[in-house]
Amino acid sequence: MTFKDLEIIEPILKALRAEGYTHPTPIQEQSIPILLRGKDLLGCAQTGTGKTAAFAIPILQHLYFDRQQDNGPRKIKALIVTPTRELAIQIGDSFSAYGKYTGIRNTVIFGGVKQGAQTQALRRGVDVLVATPGRLLDLMDQGFITLKHVKYSVLDEADHMLDMGFIHDIRKIIAKLPSDRQSLFFSATMPPDIVALSHKILGNPEKVTVKPQQATTELVEQAVYFVGKKDKTKLLIHLLETEEADSTLVFSRTKHGSDKIVKLLARAGIKAEAIHGNKSQGARQRALGNFKDGRTNVLVATDIAARGIDVSELSLVINYNLPNVPETYVHRIGRTGRAKASGVALSFCDMEERAYLKTIQKLINQRIPIVEEHPYIDDGKEEASKGANSQRAHHKPRSANSGNRNGGNDHWKNRRSNSRKGR
Ligand code: AMP
Repeated sequence: MTFKDLEIIEPILKALRAEGYTHPTPIQEQSIPILLRGKDLLGCAQTGTGKTAAFAIPILQHLYFDRQQDNGPRKIKALIVTPTRELAIQIGDSFSAYGKYTGIRNTVIFGGVKQGAQTQALRRGVDVLVATPGRLLDLMDQGFITLKHVKYSVLDEADHMLDMGFIHDIRKIIAKLPSDRQSLFFSATMPPDIVALSHKILGNPEKVTVKPQQATTELVEQAVYFVGKKDKTKLLIHLLETEEADSTLVFSRTKHGSDKIVKLLARAGIKAEAIHGNKSQGARQRALGNFKDGRTNVLVATDIAARGIDVSELSLVINYNLPNVPETYVHRIGRTGRAKASGVALSFCDMEERAYLKTIQKLINQRIPIVEEHPYIDDGKEEASKGANSQRAHHKPRSANSGNRNGGNDHWKNRRSNSRKGR
């Protein structure tokens, strides 16, 4: 199955090629035909499955045809409501990327920042609005936004919305939407309150469920290193030197941080390149090309820049920083273990990141094995590993391997040497 088989128009196909997408993911394969037919959709899927493109592509295609009929002043025709600023920005970026040859314009609004730039963008006219609930209602109340022209609405991560207490806001927003519209509703889980909410929003929806991302994380061999901030680069160099992975993707929280890592690796004689938002599109593509062709073995990326990286032979992901949004972890480690191959994800965790580790483990419902022997163990290790061990005592290990504290890492070495033999 290709995107062309899904009857996607050429301007969008061209953008997908530029993103390096070759084949639709399962949720895209299932949802796009339903959405192109104009049906409502109830999608049970998590971030990391490709669900953004699953709704963005058909919406862009509808809007493209709508604008051929009526290219008057732009009105908000598509509304995507999502719980967090990070998701809103990612969704906006996706609409920009997939829609870059369609002439469809989007903007993103969220709270916690001044509204001036957002209201200016709205005044210039947009077809697609991506919003978090609070700021959306606020700008509606102030008269900057009307939803009366909306033909396509998406409620994204509905379970998170409810967890974050947005239910009243959501109800108010829905009340302002025209009844004649196509509605999409996505949630990773479907407890009764979510099902009830979906009934309020959707007509007679088609349902699509894709395997939760957890299944993918279980394919990935994971391990965590407790390490002080100042020793992270040394540990990274140590791992890159000893583990001999063919292709390693290192995630850094900041753009500046990724440049610094590349510089320090170069000093140690390790060739690496960085990709992040401050690099030109050309520089990013060159770095990605070098990485894919094996000219560079190590790529250091920020989360946003890493979107769309699809390297089938990626053997190792290193989280130089643990992400504060747990879904991002799932996203990152899903970079390896693709195409049914299992990969390895190693995470560095300093004292400040211990809380992130907890929320990640809760989300993936797995304990990540701790590597107890390495040259740069953090001073605070005793205290934190005591907590983790006592938790582990109540937790039945998934396998002999995950019960072994550094089993993940050894296992990985074995697998790596096996896979090298196989080449
Ligand atoms: P999402 O679940 O929408 O957050 O998407 C997860 C990641 O997969 C994002 O980084 C997308 O850029 C990427 N992605 C989405 N669809 C595809 C595809 N068909 N091929 C390759 N990567 C994709």
